[in-house]
Amino acid sequence: MTLPLPGPVLEALSRITSRGHEAYAVGGCVRDLLRGIKPHDYDICASCAPEEIHACFAGERMIDTGIRHGTVTVLLHGMPLEITAFRADGDYSDGRHPDSVRFTRSLAEDLRRRDFTVNAMAYRPDKGVTDLFGGRQDLRNRVIRCVGDAEARFTEDALRILRALRFAAQLDFTIEPSTARAMRALRGRLQLVSRERVAEELLRMLRYPAAPGILNAFPDVFFAAMPDFPPEAFAPGISALRGLPGGDPALALAALLHACEDDALRRCLTSLRPSKALEAQAVQLAGNCREPLAQAEVPLLLARLGEAQTGRLITLQRACGLLTEEEAEQRALRVRDALDKGLPLTLRQLPVTGSDLIALGFSGPAVGRALEALHRLALTEGLPCEREALLRRAESMRPAEPPLS
Ligand code: ATP
Ligand code: MG
Repeated sequence: MTLPLPGPVLEALSRITSRGHEAYAVGGCVRDLLRGIKPHDYDICASCAPEEIHACFAGERMIDTGIRHGTVTVLLHGMPLEITAFRADGDYSDGRHPDSVRFTRSLAEDLRRRDFTVNAMAYRPDKGVTDLFGGRQDLRNRVIRCVGDAEARFTEDALRILRALRFAAQLDFTIEPSTARAMRALRGRLQLVSRERVAEELLRMLRYPAAPGILNAFPDVFFAAMPDFPPEAFAPGISALRGLPGGDPALALAALLHACEDDALRRCLTSLRPSKALEAQAVQLAGNCREPLAQAEVPLLLARLGEAQTGRLITLQRACGLLTEEEAEQRALRVRDALDKGLPLTLRQLPVTGSDLIALGFSGPAVGRALEALHRLALTEGLPCEREALLRRAESMRPAEPPLS
């Protein structure tokens, strides 16, 4: 069987083999090529030590990504390739990292330390696919299964428990029963995983449409990873997540968290530590998901949140059941209509300024208040957004003259 490896990968393989070593494409790229999907990157494993990998690529740009772990990144014709010496991991005493790594000449040993059967296949054009653990069959059956004994593998490295969930969501696979049992049994070991890695896997997982189904099948594993998540917010979170189109991290995060009270929301976000932008978006969406958005409020919300967030909020409210399908459509149409009409989304777009109001006799905080009231009227089309009409209304809002004494 021939897999379509890109030119730079083929060249890297032949540069290593021509110096008398073995080299294979390995891991996620083999898995994805076998599924007929374009890999997003290519990993290579080689039977030689990292110094020898260097020698194979003399003159090319290289970064010692993890020289201690035997990984060198080579930039070949513009393509970054991670090339790792065959490795066999030593004992894991911290439940997360091997105490030592040993380089080996055996491909089988290198494949045996990998997490799941579908991730433990190697390929080179002259030999075809090396599949020692039934990875191809598991791909056909759409199953995530540990290489070797699941309990032992999750005991070595608890992050693999979350990786199993993430790959199940990413590939839309199920988790093989003994692997699933071991995940549940060893979920307490997730405490050994740093919050950053937990967050990375969970946030990554949320991007995939299959995530709600997987999380729902493993609530106890989810709670072990996210001890701050209030149990009563789980079912509404999963149900909202299910109603989403997928692929939008801010929306997914807000859906999952929307039923958390403010302080729980804070604590969950503190432990997930999404990027600042993602956090701000998710908080704003979750915070505006307490009551249904009224049709008349749409332009005001658009002015406050902007087009993208307003669109997301409508989708989220639909997914949470706050809006019906029809109501959500009406809200979305109102957004389009407001944008088409060029309603004044910011105060600066209002054809009346503070100076106009001062000229009319307003002063102090009354100026700002009157501007905002006019803005609101123009946005909700209680008034046409025209200077004359707005000024006339402003006159009628002018505070009464203080009585002469
Ligand atoms: P993706 O398409 O998501 O990048 P991937 O399979 O390339 O998937 P990576 O996290 O990039 O996933 O890891 C590369 C390979 O390294 C995996 O396919 C797997 O063989 C191995 N691997 C990574 N992390 C672990 C781990 N914690 N335990 C065992 N093997 C691992
Ligand atoms: Mg990868």
